[in-house]
Amino acid sequence: MQIDFFSDTNTNPSKAMRQVMAHASVGNEAAGEDPTVNALIKVTCQLLGKPAALFLPSGTMCNVIAYKAHIQRPGDYILLDHKAHALVVQSGLIAGQAEATPLPIVGIRGVFTEDQIKEHIIRPPLRNIPAVRLVSIEQTTNFGGGAIWPLTVLQAIAALCKAYAVSMHLDGARLFNAAVATQVAVSAYAACFDSVFVDFSKGLGAPMGAVLAGEEDFIEKAWYYKFQLGGAMHQAGIIAAACLYGLEHHRDDLIEDHVKMKYLLEGLFPIHGIIVNPSLYQTNIGYFSLTPDTIPIQTLLDRLRHAYGIRMAAVADSIRVITHRDITYKAIDITLAAVKKILRVM
Ligand SMILES: *Cc1c(COP(=O)(O)O)cnc(C)c1O
Repeated sequence: MQIDFFSDTNTNPSKAMRQVMAHASVGNEAAGEDPTVNALIKVTCQLLGKPAALFLPSGTMCNVIAYKAHIQRPGDYILLDHKAHALVVQSGLIAGQAEATPLPIVGIRGVFTEDQIKEHIIRPPLRNIPAVRLVSIEQTTNFGGGAIWPLTVLQAIAALCKAYAVSMHLDGARLFNAAVATQVAVSAYAACFDSVFVDFSKGLGAPMGAVLAGEEDFIEKAWYYKFQLGGAMHQAGIIAAACLYGLEHHRDDLIEDHVKMKYLLEGLFPIHGIIVNPSLYQTNIGYFSLTPDTIPIQTLLDRLRHAYGIRMAAVADSIRVITHRDITYKAIDITLAAVKKILRVM
């Protein structure tokens, strides 16, 4: 048995999802001829309210391509939170692939304000300092603990960026989680951005696949980098069918992942040795830590893994947990009992 709180990317394709994959109509994706990919693009464009989009194997490639397409000169600044996924992990893609300079902002749980970035956006061009070309925002924030950017904050930043010709990119790996939690339409969030990507391989449960959307000219540019990076595919409809299935059948279930997170964190809260504030976490990502008088974090993680088949992630000096459709309430009960037992014995 495995109980996997490591990531919502560890959701496995269901039997029904595999069925639609097996029967998907396919064609040459690189030539724009795969009917299932085209159907996925159409539905995603409608949801996001964007005129054009392309299909890519991963969210990471969406970020790389969007960054390359928005940058004008090597070294340009991309402004983003200091704990942004594209900055902290993903093998240094900003420097290594986009040839840009990250401008990290210290937000609260991954969320910063218009006031915090004004000084970087409103300034005369200088010969010896990179221009800020792009603001990149995660909805929801990954290392910020699944926090949701309020629509009003996004709108204020979008207005500022528009006035100074700075582009906005949305890393929407978990945009659907934000939308189900707030009941704000994904198109309302997307309207603040020039480009948006959504991922189908997180809580929606597809094995892989992401869509990058924006204006026609942006997507034309993105196609160039899609080919350059080897992201142009062939009978990709087999994958797109899984993405479509996730979108149609699993999107509303995401709210359940958030309820599971509350259930887990509220269960952890009273256990002696645990430090957690369940009210901080709005979606399917949570963090907790241990008091200094108990065992080290790594010891707890190792015991959970080896004695119970329960997997969680160490992130800095905390433990990150992510809930998803393959985690049942019973699995959470087993986890709580295991944590109690390990901490009590020590
Ligand atoms: C997972 C994730 C990505 C990358 O998506 P992949 O499809 O795994 O490449 C990008 N940004 C954030 C915030 C993520 O959580």
